[in-house]
Amino acid sequence: MTDRPNAARPGPVAETILYNGVIRTMDAANPVAEALAVSGGRIVRLGTQTEVMALRTEATDLVDLGGRMLMPGLIDFHVHLLSSMIARLHTTALDTADDFDTILGKIEAACARQDGRDWVVAGAYGARALGRMREPGALAALDAVSRGRPVAMQHLSGHGYFANSAALRIAGIDAATPNPPDGEIVKDAAGQPTGLLIESGAWPVTDAIPELTAAGKAEAARASIAYLNSLGITGFADASASLEALQFYRALDDAGALTCWAAFHLALSPTCSGYAADEVKVMREQRRELCGPHMNADFAKIFLDGVPSLRTAAMLAPYASAPDEPPVATSLTLDELTEAIADFDGDGLGVKVHAVGDRAIRMVLDAVEQVRRRNGPDGPQHQIAHGQFITAADIPRLAELNVLHDMCPPLWHPNSASLTHERMVGAERYATVWPVRDILAAGAAVVAASDWRTIAPDLDPWEAMCGLVTRRDPTGRHEGVHAPDQAVSITEVLPLYTTNPAAAMRLGHRTGRLAPGLSADMVMLDRDLMTIEPLAIAQTKVLATWFEGRLVHGSA
Ligand SMILES: [Zn+2]
Repeated sequence: MTDRPNAARPGPVAETILYNGVIRTMDAANPVAEALAVSGGRIVRLGTQTEVMALRTEATDLVDLGGRMLMPGLIDFHVHLLSSMIARLHTTALDTADDFDTILGKIEAACARQDGRDWVVAGAYGARALGRMREPGALAALDAVSRGRPVAMQHLSGHGYFANSAALRIAGIDAATPNPPDGEIVKDAAGQPTGLLIESGAWPVTDAIPELTAAGKAEAARASIAYLNSLGITGFADASASLEALQFYRALDDAGALTCWAAFHLALSPTCSGYAADEVKVMREQRRELCGPHMNADFAKIFLDGVPSLRTAAMLAPYASAPDEPPVATSLTLDELTEAIADFDGDGLGVKVHAVGDRAIRMVLDAVEQVRRRNGPDGPQHQIAHGQFITAADIPRLAELNVLHDMCPPLWHPNSASLTHERMVGAERYATVWPVRDILAAGAAVVAASDWRTIAPDLDPWEAMCGLVTRRDPTGRHEGVHAPDQAVSITEVLPLYTTNPAAAMRLGHRTGRLAPGLSADMVMLDRDLMTIEPLAIAQTKVLATWFEGRLVHGSA
């Protein structure tokens, strides 16, 4: 450091200078810098050490990056943040274990923990554990590790529970309880409940689990932001937000604790579960007033089809695993979908439509085409969420119609969920899954997001990035490769986590890249993503995260 503090010169001064780094800015005008100066939460200069040190004063904090890579904070454009953090904090993770003794061990540990709660709620156990749960003695074995606490654990599919005797007692389930419509209370040869509860048979138990208090939810909201910051994330879009979620994040923002840019897709459509007409009216009419300075709620959500694992994704061709099954119905007809999007479009709301199957995806594009014709071509950008099975013919329509492809969750490499999908639709259809290279080549707007916590208990953007580059399982647990011809380079992947989602959140002028005038939202990594082996991307560690120039995770 040869530059001297320079307090006399007029012009911008730096509150903080980060120097001696490999700063990958994601800004085309100035892709790499050595140093960066921050003032008032914004970047005031980027460049060589000498250029940036010219802004140093006596009061400037100096941060030595030690030659590490610094990049813009990541943005997770599709996450179910509050509900996922509540589940993370308040359910015991069974990690889809298939071995009954392993499950009992986890329950025993959870029941021994004094967490101030009575119930132990756990999920999810693997499909093969069901065999032992059906055998005599399974309920007694669960009771023996429960210390008298009520225990309820969910099956992987979400369509069944295994509960202990204390939980059954509180729920009022005994030998005399009849099966409800659309459900079963599984009983043994003597007519006693076994603890297995199928579909609506589980409702008395799930209804008996005490709801988290408002204070507990507020704490989960706070924890969710700390969790994102720890992963290097400084922006998120909640894919289907309730009025309650908006209010918890607003309270954080008012307290200066929302250290993330936050966009909300309002659950306004009747296709969203938990649809309550009075709340919807408030959310839609007061969406601007409900938001704090780091929030916007200019998006709506519609569910059109389901998921491949249950064969409810709307495909053009029959499922290879059930060739005679009739095609699944979408939740809305083309006309209904067009009306719904047109209504939101006219109000300036960008609409995210959950569409997984190639038939559902085509329907969204057909609907947006009609909306553009009706409302004019310059309406808000709309979005296809997931878009896993888009056909080659529909790819060019994304850019033509200004429809964003929100690729999530990370199923573009082999894992237990994607391998199930492959079995369902057949290897031939799966050979063209997630055509990322073709979609980028067609000039479409694309983001890669987590959909936390639908496929994994942990959110890991670095593992997901690695999967986009290699199309292989970075953990090595699953063999094979999905559509390797669609792999893309890390240079192509980084915009999917930074500039592209920032633009989709209508925040491209505030965040997503490092440039003068933009918010100082940055992460320091333990490795330079551009120079390492692709498989090593998955183990990336975030050493420090800054939001508006404030250190919000780690140390530097
Ligand atoms: Zn989702």
